[in-house]
Amino acid sequence: MQLCQQPGPNPHQSRTAAFCLSLYLYPPVRNTVVSQTTRTTTLIESVAALVKTELAPLTNAIDQEGLYPADFLHKLGALGGFASAIPKAYGGLELGLDSQIDITSLVGRECGSTAFLTWCQSTCAWYLLHAPNETVRARYLPQVAQGKLLAGTGMSNTVKHLAGIEKIHLSAVREGDGYIVSGSLPWVSNIGKDHLAIVAASVGEEGYIMFAVRGDTEGLSLNPCPEFSGLEGTQTLNMRFRNVRIQADDVLAQPDQFKSFIARIKAGFVLGQLGMGFGIIEGSLKTIRESNVTTSHVNVYLDEQGEDIATKFEALRNQVSSLAPQAENGTALILDILRARANGSEATLAAAQSALLHAGAKGYLMRHPAQRRLREAIFVAIVTPALKHLRKEIHDIEQAQQAKAEAA
Ligand SMILES: Cc1cc2nc3c(=O)[nH]c(=O)nc-3n(C[C@H](O)[C@H](O)[C@H](O)COP(=O)(O)OP(=O)(O)OC[C@H]3O[C@@H](n4cnc5c(N)ncnc54)[C@H](O)[C@@H]3O)c2cc1C
Repeated sequence: MQLCQQPGPNPHQSRTAAFCLSLYLYPPVRNTVVSQTTRTTTLIESVAALVKTELAPLTNAIDQEGLYPADFLHKLGALGGFASAIPKAYGGLELGLDSQIDITSLVGRECGSTAFLTWCQSTCAWYLLHAPNETVRARYLPQVAQGKLLAGTGMSNTVKHLAGIEKIHLSAVREGDGYIVSGSLPWVSNIGKDHLAIVAASVGEEGYIMFAVRGDTEGLSLNPCPEFSGLEGTQTLNMRFRNVRIQADDVLAQPDQFKSFIARIKAGFVLGQLGMGFGIIEGSLKTIRESNVTTSHVNVYLDEQGEDIATKFEALRNQVSSLAPQAENGTALILDILRARANGSEATLAAAQSALLHAGAKGYLMRHPAQRRLREAIFVAIVTPALKHLRKEIHDIEQAQQAKAEAA
C-alpha cells in the first residue's frame, strides 16, 4: 500500500487522500487536517480544539440524555464552523464547500448527532446564499453563517415530494405580498422558539415557495417527537402551522423561481451530508485501529478490514473534493452527487458495523462509541435523501436517460 502520495494535479485531492490513509495507519497526535491554505488549517485546528474541549465531554449526554449542544453550536459558529462556503461579504470565510465538509467530518468524528446539526446550520446558510431574494439573504445569512441565529432545514418532505415519494405537507395561499401557510412537518431538527426554520409549501397550481420562519411566529407551534433511538440531542420537533403569515421579505424563492432555486441548491445540500458520514467513518477507523492492538489475531477474519475501509474512504473523499467546487459553481451533475451520497451511506454503515465487530463485546457497552456510531450511521442512511430514496432517484434518472437515448 502506498503510504504517501506525490502531489498530483489537484493538490487538495492529494492531501485528502494522504490524510485519509494516514488516519488509519498513523494514529493522529492531534486532530488536524493538512489543508491547502493557512486559513483553512487555522480553522480546522481551532475547530478540532473546540471539539476536544467543548464537545467531547458532552457526547454521552447528547446521545443518552438528549442534551442539545446550543453553546457548542454558538462557539463553533463564532469560529466560522458554518461559514466555509459563504462569501466574506455575508460574514463567511470563503474557503469553499469542501472545507465545510471537512468541518462537519471533524465534528462527526466525535459526535454524529452534532455533525448533523452542523450540516443543518451550514445548509441553511447555503440556501440563503443562493436565494434570489436579496432582502432575505441580507436579513439572515450573516447571523446564520456565524451561528448567532440557529437554524433548521425542514426540507425532507419537499425533497421527497419532488422525487414522487410523498404528498407535500404545507400549503400556502397568497395574501397581499405574502402568504398564509398551514399544515405540519413531523420532524425538523435544530429548531426552537428563538431559532429560524427554512421550509417549503405548495401554492396551488402556481407551484411552490421556500421561506424562512422564526420559531416564535404567531400560529406556529413546535411540539416534541416520540423518543428516537439516536440523534436525541438534535432538538428535533414537530412544526405545526395554523394560518401562519409569511411576509414577502422572508420568502427565499417565489413560485416562478422555485424550480431553478431547488436545482441550484440541491447538489450542495446533498453533498454536504457526506461530512456526517465521513466523520463516522473516521471515528470507526480509530476504533478498528485501537481494537487491533489487542485482538488483531482474530479481527483478521472479519470481512471489512481497516485498510479496505480506508482505501474506499480515500476514493470517496477525493470524489467529493472534486464535486464540491462543481456544486458551488452550479455545474455538478445531480446523478454524480446522488451516487456519491448513496456510496457514502453504504460506506458509513459498513465502517460503523465493522468497528463494532472489531471492538466485540466492549463495543456493545453503552459507554463505548462503536454502538453509538452504528446508530448514527443508520441515521445517515435514513435522513432525506435516504438510501432507498437515493436509489429511486438514481433509477428514475437512469431510466429517463435510457428512454431519451432510445428515442434519439
Ligand atoms: C432524528 C431525526 C431527525 C430528522 N430531522 C429532520 C430535519 O431536520 N428536517 C427534515 O426535513 N426532516 C428530518 N427528519 C426526517 C427524515 O429526513 C425523513 O424524511 C424521515 O425519516 C422519513 O423518511 P422515510 O424515508 O423514513 O419515509 P418513508 O418510509 O419512505 O415514507 C415515505 C412516505 O410514504 C408514506 N406512506 C407510507 N405508506 C404508504 C402507502 N401505503 N401509500 C402511500 N404512502 C405511504 C409515509 O407516510 C411517508 O410520508 C428527521 C428524522 C429523524 C429520525
